Amino acid sequence: MVERTLAIIKPDAVKKRVIGNVIQRYEAAGLYPVAMKMMSLSQPIAEGFYAVHRERSFFHDLTAFMSSGPSVVLVLEGENAIQANRDLMGATDPQKAESGTIRAAHGASIEANAVHGSDSPETAGFEIGYFFPGMDLQAGC
Ligand code: ADP
Ligand code: MG
Repeated sequence: MVERTLAIIKPDAVKKRVIGNVIQRYEAAGLYPVAMKMMSLSQPIAEGFYAVHRERSFFHDLTAFMSSGPSVVLVLEGENAIQANRDLMGATDPQKAESGTIRAAHGASIEANAVHGSDSPETAGFEIGYFFPGMDLQAGC
């Protein structure tokens, strides 16, 4: 099924100058950008985005990191895009990420792990709407 997912190239990856490399990996995996913008998330915007993690010990550090510099926020479209992007990203902890994944290549730590990807249709719907209001989770618009 063709679907959409929300991806973020996080501030650490932008600082490392690997935006182009990451987008190349998306395209090579059949995940095509259908919306994209570069933006600096404020801490409140990062807190709203990661609200599901608000009780976690790392919430403050995570939202400070996510607002530490510009990110690239994208909607990717492709066959089983949500799981396909999770597979392409690799494990949250780059040290545990399979070789060939984005996090294995570019992640520095469990926090500064280069990319975000939605983990279910429900979160993809919320996350796409959060950054691209009015844009549908479904392909074909
Ligand atoms: P994922 O991004 O793989 O879906 P989570 O949703 O569990 O992972 O966590 C969201 C983000 O929070 C991670 O990508 C990472 O940047 C950060 N994070 C997760 N676990 C930790 C941790 N134990 N310590 C610090 N930061 C963390
Ligand atoms: Mg997650």
